[in-house]
Amino acid sequence: MNQETPGAAPVRTRVAPSPTGAPHIGTAYIALFNYAFAKHHGGQFILRIEDTDQTRSTAASEQAILDALRWIGIPWDEGPDRGGAHAPYRQSARTDIYLEHVRKLTESGAAYPCFCTAARLAELRRSQAGTDNSGYDGCCATLDPAQAARRAAAGEPHVVRLRIPTDGECVMQDRLRGAIRIPWHKVDHQVLLKSDGYPTYHLANVVDDHLMGISHVIRGEEWLSSLPKHLLLYQAFQWQAPEFVHLPLLRNPDKSKLSKRRNPTSILYYQRAGFLPEALINYLGLLAYSFPDGREEFTLAQLAENFDIDRVSLGGPIFDLQKLRNFNGRYLRGLPPAELWHRLQDWLLRDEVWQQIVPLAQPRLSQMTDLVPQAAFLFADRLDYAPDQLIKTAPGGDAAALARLLKTAQWEMEKLPEWDNAAVRDLFNRLATVENLKLKQLMPPFYVAVTGAPVGLPAFDAMVQLGRDMTLRRLQYALETLETGGVALKGRQLKEFTAAYQAAYGSPA
Ligand code: GLU
Repeated sequence: MNQETPGAAPVRTRVAPSPTGAPHIGTAYIALFNYAFAKHHGGQFILRIEDTDQTRSTAASEQAILDALRWIGIPWDEGPDRGGAHAPYRQSARTDIYLEHVRKLTESGAAYPCFCTAARLAELRRSQAGTDNSGYDGCCATLDPAQAARRAAAGEPHVVRLRIPTDGECVMQDRLRGAIRIPWHKVDHQVLLKSDGYPTYHLANVVDDHLMGISHVIRGEEWLSSLPKHLLLYQAFQWQAPEFVHLPLLRNPDKSKLSKRRNPTSILYYQRAGFLPEALINYLGLLAYSFPDGREEFTLAQLAENFDIDRVSLGGPIFDLQKLRNFNGRYLRGLPPAELWHRLQDWLLRDEVWQQIVPLAQPRLSQMTDLVPQAAFLFADRLDYAPDQLIKTAPGGDAAALARLLKTAQWEMEKLPEWDNAAVRDLFNRLATVENLKLKQLMPPFYVAVTGAPVGLPAFDAMVQLGRDMTLRRLQYALETLETGGVALKGRQLKEFTAAYQAAYGSPA
């Protein structure tokens, strides 16, 4: 065991996902490096749920994050499910703590109440359009503190903002990147407490990292621009800041930020699509870390044992699905057959799936052999059908319109808060109404895309059983199949489609 510095505080790291959607592959990547670092130094790794965004956070998403991290095999020492010395580990249960800390900040003047109305802020944004200025103009920062406190106490609606120095620059240290300087005038007057009394991420994150004794904050580089505000908070509270490490973001093969539009980003997809968790962990580790001896295959324990954070590479790690498949194949083929059979059983004989499927398939059975072909689509990834098979089911035979329909369904599916039969049914009914089609005209291409055949188990049940992530992926494969048939939703067409979609359905998720 190595301590970072002899006699220093114990090493404690954390992963702090927000439960606002499917468990993201990026969460596993960040968790992996936090785990490896903590364990290398004999420390603890904590899971904290950051659900300060009350409108987007769901209990189902939190559960899915826990399940996904368990499946992938990264264990945490403290967390919402298992408690610990610094419980609770879910931010929505810690609001009193944040309120008390905001009060300290307003009393010391490090933060101030802001009474600007939504209308004034909208006007400010309009006046800033096309200029170099953006963000809050500091209007309420100059209010008389006693008077502002009286207005706030009298119940006048307000938020609380962080007071940003008016000149000079912030010098921040990142373990991998060294010193980074940002002039303070480029840092916005961050809202710390919203008008609904809930804290924002920035306040809750800093307060919790301190109270939970986090020694090293290892997170994605998208948070680097928040660091000046976080450092200012540590200073205002007179707390020692942890060490910061901003890991390079995972990228699509074209170097853009990893996005669900190009790659499956939900861990559930990888679970359903037959990847081995240890292969996925190994692949994620390899993306930003290299062993001194150059070995490519390693276990989580070996990574933790060997881990040297200073060997993390800052070059944009490319998440390449084909490479991951090759890697996974090596793992699968390397398993002893008995172990492979054990793994296959776990994957194939999932009770929760079969308990739903058997009653659906039953009315269509003459022999038991009829079951497997009906259920096969649930255990496949990419289905095999020709572009023509799909196009001939398109309403009016219009392949370009079908591409738009598939995309519309994808974007609408991403927005659904729940994924169950009623929600999926509503979605397609809505789609039929907006697109002016009968459900009977709308469904056939989705049927082919999702199950690979024009008939079979009821379509909505099929999608529910397949799960949202696999269903989205199937629609993606259908779009790719159309592309091989010469129908692509790209460039100008995609722009036009996006505008039309927004007009009819609102913004994509
Ligand atoms: N809740 C943030 C997220 O969802 C955590 C960022 C951090 O690690 O500070 O990524």
